[in-house]
Amino acid sequence: MPASDDLKAKRLDAEDPLAPFRERFVIRDPELIYLDGNSLGRLPKAAVGRARALIETEWGERLIRGWNEGWIDAPARVGAKIARLIGAHPDEVIVADSTSVNLFKLAVAALRYQQGRTKIVTDDLNFPSDLYVLQGACELLGEEHEMTRVASGDGVHGPVEEIQANLDERTALLTLSHVVFKSGYLYDMAALTRAAHEVGALVLWDLSHSVGSVPINLEASGADLAVGCSYKYLNGGPGAPAFLYVRRELQAKLANPITGWMGKKNAFDFALDYEPEVGVRKFLTGTPSVVSLALIEPGIELLLEAGMQRVREKSLKLSAFLLELFEAHLAPLGFHLASPRDPARRGSHLSLSHPQALAIDLAMIRELNLIPDFRPPESIRLGLAPLYTSFQEVYEAVRRIERIVVEGRHEKYLNDAPVVT
Ligand SMILES: *Cc1c(COP(=O)(O)O)cnc(C)c1O
Repeated sequence: MPASDDLKAKRLDAEDPLAPFRERFVIRDPELIYLDGNSLGRLPKAAVGRARALIETEWGERLIRGWNEGWIDAPARVGAKIARLIGAHPDEVIVADSTSVNLFKLAVAALRYQQGRTKIVTDDLNFPSDLYVLQGACELLGEEHEMTRVASGDGVHGPVEEIQANLDERTALLTLSHVVFKSGYLYDMAALTRAAHEVGALVLWDLSHSVGSVPINLEASGADLAVGCSYKYLNGGPGAPAFLYVRRELQAKLANPITGWMGKKNAFDFALDYEPEVGVRKFLTGTPSVVSLALIEPGIELLLEAGMQRVREKSLKLSAFLLELFEAHLAPLGFHLASPRDPARRGSHLSLSHPQALAIDLAMIRELNLIPDFRPPESIRLGLAPLYTSFQEVYEAVRRIERIVVEGRHEKYLNDAPVVT
């Protein structure tokens, strides 16, 4: 690759106002190019100290007193911080369970509320777990409920017009991934929410790939419900609990289908009959995962400090640079862009497709110390996490990918099939 690309990367890093944030993360191997922050974000240094204090002091010394010294309020406290990243009020967001479980709770709540309406509209770009959850919700609610999975023509762009055409007076719920996990397509949240409201449907957004990577304003978009993940761009740690959002006006109207003591009014009166807690807390079910939950906070604080506008600006610059290098060096080697070209319709990851993508992905990881991820049948996803991905890393990633293909270093992996990709 020409020296001018390298110089450009260096210049972009030197001009980057977010560059100092990289040092706030644990980076043990400076040679490792990590482009998988959209699957598992890096470890913030502050989370290490937080984990030690939590385990040694709070658990080790304070023992059960910890519940009254912050643990019991952690789902709401961390939820209120996430609210600032997604344009919600602090009392509209709470941390609990996994994204899949939260989606189930909110989808069933919405479907039960929408009496007489039996249709869920979604698309075939949605995260498969979301589709499984919706199928399960339909089965649970009885024969009349059905899911319409609108097909994307090209597997890259959201089928916006077809979705709108499918919204009708039978539609109870529209639910989509705000940023699509494979292609990175970014839906226009406000426009689709408006279209759903026009026919009386509720809207549930999955923010897993957009929270911490694109600015979100749930209130301004009129969104009703949302769920999202904390271990991707929020850097909350493997398996960290997810969050859910319920617009204030809906909180009294919707009921949590998984009724447990943490969502009950006066949980500790141990009464035998369930009565829901008021507000978003009613969507809690069981005891929060205190250790994992506490570790989400440092990553959120870094994003709040950086500001989502600056995060988005850098994300756009990173992806523009990657696209430029892709055109010059990878497209000639048989790679195709499997993401939208329009930056306004893209989140913070890019998918490159190649007929030998899985073998190339394995060669990247095992031979050239470069971690992207792979999504079948033939996409390599390159996640750009603006808090710690540098322009130099983008340059170096393209250089290494080019080298793999030119030198045929992926050929010995053509028959491998790992379990987690
Ligand atoms: C990562 C992701 C999830 C994760 O679901 P879990 O239940 O936390 O495993 C769900 N939805 C989308 C869109 C995702 O990207």
